Amino acid sequence: MSDQFDDSDALAQEKHRQRMAAKKKIVDERIARAQEERGVLILLKGNGKGKSSSAFGTMARALGHGQRAAVIQFIKGRKATGEYLFFKDHPRVDFHVMGHGFTWETQDRDQDIAAAQQAWALAERLLQDEHYDFLLFDELSYMIKYGYLDATRIAAALSTRLRNQNVMITGRTMATELQEIADTISVVQDERHAFRLGIKAQAGIEY
Ligand code: ATP
Ligand code: MG
Repeated sequence: MSDQFDDSDALAQEKHRQRMAAKKKIVDERIARAQEERGVLILLKGNGKGKSSSAFGTMARALGHGQRAAVIQFIKGRKATGEYLFFKDHPRVDFHVMGHGFTWETQDRDQDIAAAQQAWALAERLLQDEHYDFLLFDELSYMIKYGYLDATRIAAALSTRLRNQNVMITGRTMATELQEIADTISVVQDERHAFRLGIKAQAGIEY
């Protein structure tokens, strides 16, 4: 009985070893093939929670390697966010929040358009500035969705940016023009959210 068990155990071990070896071969081949060195454009979209926090997490990763970063937040909430309070004083982060306090409550469309265009003009300068290794344009997609900014112009600036810059853009929906030029696109799916269970938004989790 115990011999039988040992045999089947050894067989399972061998099968596992073979599977892992085959997997490693595939991964090694892929690694060998990925030789290009340049910055990437990453889009985080979808209705689930986790887009901005993932982008700020990646920025923390870049900063850990001594890189220099800038953030433009295209939508300003009512409360100072934890990410703003944490990163604003970091010596290698320039943190910009779109002017005129655009929020969901603003009523003045012309003022919102002017604020969005001013913020995007800054983004275009950052995309040509060798000082920055990592750029985060948080909630940019809403500006396109509302027609405040032109997707073609944004795509053009992103495509002609400095070769080694990494750029992350978040927002629930992404314009086709941006998806066409992105290197990585992740969809954060909404399966459940505490808000719908009636749980109040809280500091450190929502903002
Ligand atoms: P986070 O900043 O937590 O990573 P996000 O960037 O993916 O979230 P946004 O669409 O920017 O999400 O929404 C911002 C705020 O709305 C956050 O406070 C977040 O917790 C909340 N939120 C995100 N998804 C949902 C949802 N499906 N239902 C309710 N609230 C949500
Ligand atoms: Mg967000």
